[in-house]
This record gives sequence, structure tokens and C-alpha cells, in this order.
Amino acid sequence: MIDFRSDTVTRPTPPMIDAMMRAAVGDDVFGEDPSVNHLERMCHTLFGMEAAIFCPSGTMTNQIAIKCHTQPGDEVICDRLSHVYQYEGGGIAFNSGASVRLIEGDRGRITAEQVKEAINPNDVHKPVSSLVSLENTANRGGGACYDFADIQSIKEVCLQNNLKLHLDGARLFNALVAKNETFRQYGEVFDSISICLSKGLGTPVGSVLIGTRQLIAKARRIRKIFGGGMRQAGFMAAAGIYALEHHVARLADDHRHAQEIATALRGKDFVGEILPVETNIIIFGIKGRYTAPELAARMKEEGIFVIAISPTQIRIVVHLDIHPQDVKKTIDVINSL
Ligand SMILES: *Cc1c(COP(=O)(O)O)cnc(C)c1O
Repeated sequence: MIDFRSDTVTRPTPPMIDAMMRAAVGDDVFGEDPSVNHLERMCHTLFGMEAAIFCPSGTMTNQIAIKCHTQPGDEVICDRLSHVYQYEGGGIAFNSGASVRLIEGDRGRITAEQVKEAINPNDVHKPVSSLVSLENTANRGGGACYDFADIQSIKEVCLQNNLKLHLDGARLFNALVAKNETFRQYGEVFDSISICLSKGLGTPVGSVLIGTRQLIAKARRIRKIFGGGMRQAGFMAAAGIYALEHHVARLADDHRHAQEIATALRGKDFVGEILPVETNIIIFGIKGRYTAPELAARMKEEGIFVIAISPTQIRIVVHLDIHPQDVKKTIDVINSL
């Protein structure tokens, strides 16, 4: 099977497993795992920020950040398609007791103007708007990237209104590579950044939350409360260190492969709108001969695993385990349908 369901399906490569097996480890709840400490230092240094914390998942890093930045009854502003709202089990309400103000963005991206309009006035009837959460790249936006200037404008609005700014950067590496941006740019504008090592970077487990020393100290308490304090987590951290060193620049290959597949799709009569392909995700509409689940089933018969994300839309995600010959085979299958 050529598995395009998600960039989370990757297996660790032999050299990554080697790095994991050789990892120096200790008890990370005591702060004594040298590999975790190394990974955390590496991450906050990359962004030019003060501190970082290694967690089991991106859901946990996002939820810890939201918990750190809000009080119960506060309101979080985000795009209506955001992972923090759509795919974290109602965690904003469950963990933080906060409400959500959803914005109808453009492929998962919101503007400073929209944020400004969504901020509640200082009125006892209203929840306190305390946090804006952005997602880059935007998963349900088909891997859409923000223009950095738009993020800066949102930051201005946050500063003027005393709101914190969080980044769900599960696929930030894809955005950095696609837009030729730097980690430091992001470190300068966000109060907290969550990155996933288990998506494009191809590790088995792990996400990192990055922020100020004070924020991360608070995050450490909350990680423990959420049950995310791990012991000899260095085996997993070592995979992250390896991935940061070897798997970032290669994301450009995934982006090129996604373009090639999108080009093949463009010619087909059963393909409707293809969202602009900016990174490693292709979301396309289905019309005519197939419904999305029917096409997904048809492709599966040919050894190609994709996801129908709605009755009329399919998602393809390119990743580390998709090799040039897989792309070629996929294009051949698309051409034959
Ligand atoms: C995958 C993902 C996360 C985190 O998911 P986990 O499965 O909990 O690691 C967060 N945000 C986005 C946009 C994602 O795609």
C-alpha cells in the first residue's frame, strides 16, 4: 500500500532507530533525561526563545498552551477549521473551561481585521477574549501557509488588546520550507509555539511546546496534571533530534511530489476544485462518476490509500515514506481512472 492518509503514518528510518537506540536517557520528570534536555534546548534555541517542553502529542502541547494562557470563562479566537477546535475532543472547554470564537477564514487562515472584530468589549456580559490561536500550515485549509506580514498584523492587534498569541505549528516546518522563512521570525511574534515531530519530520512520537521560561515552567505543572510526564523519554527525544538535523530540508521533496500528483489530478473529469497546493497536502473535490468514498475505495483496490474527508472531498498527504517511485505509480493509477 502507498499510504497517503496522513504524514503521521511514517516509520522511523534505520538511522533514526539507531539514534534512538544509542540515546542517553534518565528520568525526565526529574528533569534528568539528557536527550530530552538536548531536544528542548535545540528547539528553543532554533526559535530564539527561552524554554521548551517535550510532550507526547500535539494535542497535549496545544491544550497545555491554551490552559496556560487562559482563565475559565475566557474566550479563544481561532479559525473555524482549527485543529484546536475541531480535532481535540472539545479540549478547550474540557481542560480550560474556555469558550471559542470561531472565525470564517480563508483556507484556515484568519486576518488581523477579523481578529479585531472578534475581540469582546470590556463588558461584564461578555467572556474575556484572552488568546488568539493560529495554525500554520492550516491542515483543513489544504496545507495553506500564512504570509508572515499577516501574522505580524495579527500580533499588532493582540498587543493593542492584551491578547496572547499561540501557534499550532504541527506543520510549521512545511511552511518554513515552502515560504523560505526562519524559525526566529516566528519566535519573535508568538507567545507560544507547538511543533509536531511526528508529522512531516517522521518521528514515532512527540511534540514540543516552546515559549518563555515562565510559561514553560507553568506548562511543566500542567503536563503532569494531564498525565504527560514521561520517564526515559530520551529514546523518543533522540528521534526528534535526528529529525531536526536530517528531515527538515527534505520537506521540499514532499512539496514537489504533491505538485506532481495535483497536476495529474487536474486533468480528470471526476476531479472538482483542487485547493491550492502550497505544501504536502492536497485536498480536492469529487464530482460526476464517483463520490469521495467511492473514489477512495477504487484507489485502495489499486494499492493507494487516501482519505475521504467529506462526501465530496479527498485528502492526500505526502510524507517521508512516499518515494519517487510511489509518486510515479500514483500518477499512473490516477491517469488510468
Ligand atoms: C496532527 C495535528 C495536531 C496534533 O495532533 P496529535 O495527533 O495530537 O499529535 C495539531 N494540530 C494540527 C494542525 C495537526 O495536524
